[in-house]
Amino acid sequence: MSIASVIINKSARALDRFFDYLIPKELEGKIQIGTTVSVPFGKGNQMTEAYVVGFPTSSQVENLKEISDILDETPLFDEKQLALIEFMKRRYFSTYLAALKTVVPYGLGLSAKKVSDKILKGSTLAISNAEAFDALETARDKAPVQARIIELLMQNDFLANTDIQMLLGCTVASIKSLEKKGIIESVDIEIFRNPVDYNKIKKTKPLPPTKAQQTAIQKITDSLDVFRVFLLHGVTGSGKTEVFLQCIDTVLEQGKNAIVLVPEISLTPQMIQRFAGRFGRQIAVLHSHLSFGERNDEYKRIKSGEARVVIGVRSAVFAPIHNLGLIVVDEEHENSYKSQNSPAYHAREIAAVRAKQHNVPLVLASATPSVESYYKALSGKYELITLKNRANSKAMLPNVSVVDMRLELMNGNRSLFSRQLIDEIQTNLNENHQTILFLNRRGFSTFISCRSCGYVVKCPRCNIAMTYHKNKDFLTCHYCGYTQRNVTVCPDCGSQYIKHFGTGTQKVEEELQTLFPDAKVLRMDMDTVSAKNSHQQILEQFEKEKVDILIGTQMVTKGLDFENVTLVGVLAADMMLNLDDYRANEKTFDLITQVCGRAGRGAHAGRAIIQSYAPDNSVLSLAQSQDYEAFYNEEILLRKSLVYPPYCDLLAVMFSSFNDAAATNCAKRMAERLKNSLQGKVPIEILGPSPCSFYKINNKYRKRILIKCKLNDTIINVLSNCVSEHYKTKESQFVNVSVENNPVHIL
Ligand code: ADP
Ligand code: ZN
Ligand code: ZN
Repeated sequence: MSIASVIINKSARALDRFFDYLIPKELEGKIQIGTTVSVPFGKGNQMTEAYVVGFPTSSQVENLKEISDILDETPLFDEKQLALIEFMKRRYFSTYLAALKTVVPYGLGLSAKKVSDKILKGSTLAISNAEAFDALETARDKAPVQARIIELLMQNDFLANTDIQMLLGCTVASIKSLEKKGIIESVDIEIFRNPVDYNKIKKTKPLPPTKAQQTAIQKITDSLDVFRVFLLHGVTGSGKTEVFLQCIDTVLEQGKNAIVLVPEISLTPQMIQRFAGRFGRQIAVLHSHLSFGERNDEYKRIKSGEARVVIGVRSAVFAPIHNLGLIVVDEEHENSYKSQNSPAYHAREIAAVRAKQHNVPLVLASATPSVESYYKALSGKYELITLKNRANSKAMLPNVSVVDMRLELMNGNRSLFSRQLIDEIQTNLNENHQTILFLNRRGFSTFISCRSCGYVVKCPRCNIAMTYHKNKDFLTCHYCGYTQRNVTVCPDCGSQYIKHFGTGTQKVEEELQTLFPDAKVLRMDMDTVSAKNSHQQILEQFEKEKVDILIGTQMVTKGLDFENVTLVGVLAADMMLNLDDYRANEKTFDLITQVCGRAGRGAHAGRAIIQSYAPDNSVLSLAQSQDYEAFYNEEILLRKSLVYPPYCDLLAVMFSSFNDAAATNCAKRMAERLKNSLQGKVPIEILGPSPCSFYKINNKYRKRILIKCKLNDTIINVLSNCVSEHYKTKESQFVNVSVENNPVHIL
């Protein structure tokens, strides 16, 4: 009898490998890659669902059991998808099953219920995936239904509660009890279903391209049948979207189909309308606020070939599209392309794998490309295409000024607002123009800086702002663990105005109301944005009621397009410049570019004011003049001298436990083991263990080791082995270990 290898459909680390089974005579010829079968598994030979992944000629195991039955003859995945699953497992250190469920989303059999509510009640995991494995083990015997819920949520960022109930045949009580235990969290999301009314959409024609656009279109469409990565670098408004639209036209003419990825935040009705205007009902929209059923309906349209242009967020990179002809990743530098779930994949990397499998081009587009991508473009791995000017020659970039907050302090102004910003806000109030004020997202760790001279306490080894730990009053570098006592006098200028930095949007709102009692102010942050008071509603209110001032976090930076906004203020650029992250400069440059892009989009010219205690910082002046190349040239030198990506890959190995010492010891031992097995063989540097900046979450202590290396098979094997060895020990019952490749936030 021939043999089939399968993946068992049960989330457990110990089962993370292929299992071999014999194919009985009566099933021979009916089983292929991706077939869902049922197999006797474990001690009691319980019938268990499994997926066929290969046909080895022999097996290490004697006395193989037989496959019992075929559960679904239609393959769940094909060979290309299987290759992707194997790629993801290795590259992102996940289990096979987690990779499989990401590539082939669960619940394909369901179709959309007609839901009329505007709010979708649902759940997400409240704990990390590594912790979820433990919760799952605990629940498996005592509360099998709860275990299944955990399992489902490990495989999906978000699920509607009605979907969970329907899939598992359970009641809402099971969901609630997991919520009480703090394992899952309830989230209500607003539904923006069917954003397109196709009957009302006016068909648009391609705009006659500018010369630069023409060159870009030509280059891309000339290589539609080879794998090549293009980096389309164009200033905001340079007509990048028009370039994709016209390339896709050609793709469709050739009988092929396309995927366009956009960040969650820019999947706005305006964006969708633009695609619908060009391609009509041929588009499918995949965003993360879809229920299972709705997603399946779109999948069906894609599979049947009715939908030929998929526009969607991160996970749309897996869209089951036939005859792929082109993949576009818009705003390729955006963090939202990196999944926070396991496997923590990067959609840009998956897009490259798929484009290569199908032998088609991949277009990465951005006004502020990631340093990694630009590096690849300059070194010839990607082909660089540049759009230097705005497509509409009348649209002007705003006038940007940087204000020195140290001078404000010297002149006795201790408020959050510089006099210049106050004056400009007053001017806008007088002229009935609107203002947007931006403050970096709350919750980031605090750093120590001098208000007199702008000095920031940084790690001497890593050049990362040290994190202030309030309870023990010390500073630590959470990259390498370097620790020192807190400072009370500025080492640079002797001033006592040195303290931790951090202010919230609420405080800004209060001060603003004192300064301008008659102004109408709206605040948009994690506190004010909820299902009831959605993102979209706040923006609508801002626009319709001509609210004077909108204060917000990251949410206000992208995609907003209001004619009447003529002033943008960045309250504390330092909070971005001193993120405890090696990408702080890159993020600052991107953010300022985007923020400034919000002002002056209409008839009136715009102004942007950036407040900082380090106004001479070159990143700020380069952002001010919107000189990406100069920024890149400076940043890449820094990355090289300190060995950060693209000169290495960063792996974070996380240890978490209720017992601080246990986490530390486990981390130390693993660091030793890695050093012993890898040093000398591959270039590698192991930093830590050090406390994470969110050191204690949910009563668990979190330690991390950081590995700088060029990721290769040796390292992947050694590290995966270390982790799976750990899970064979008793210690694993109270210390969790997980690995993340190039994490977005090193927190
Ligand atoms: P980007 O994607 O680079 O931000 P868009 O494609 O959104 O740029 O274009 C910015 C603006 O310029 C849009 O209003 C668009 O309609 C307009 N535009 C783009 N290409 C052309 C063109 N060839 N001729 C005239 N207007 C154009
Ligand atoms: Zn100082
Ligand atoms: Zn350090």
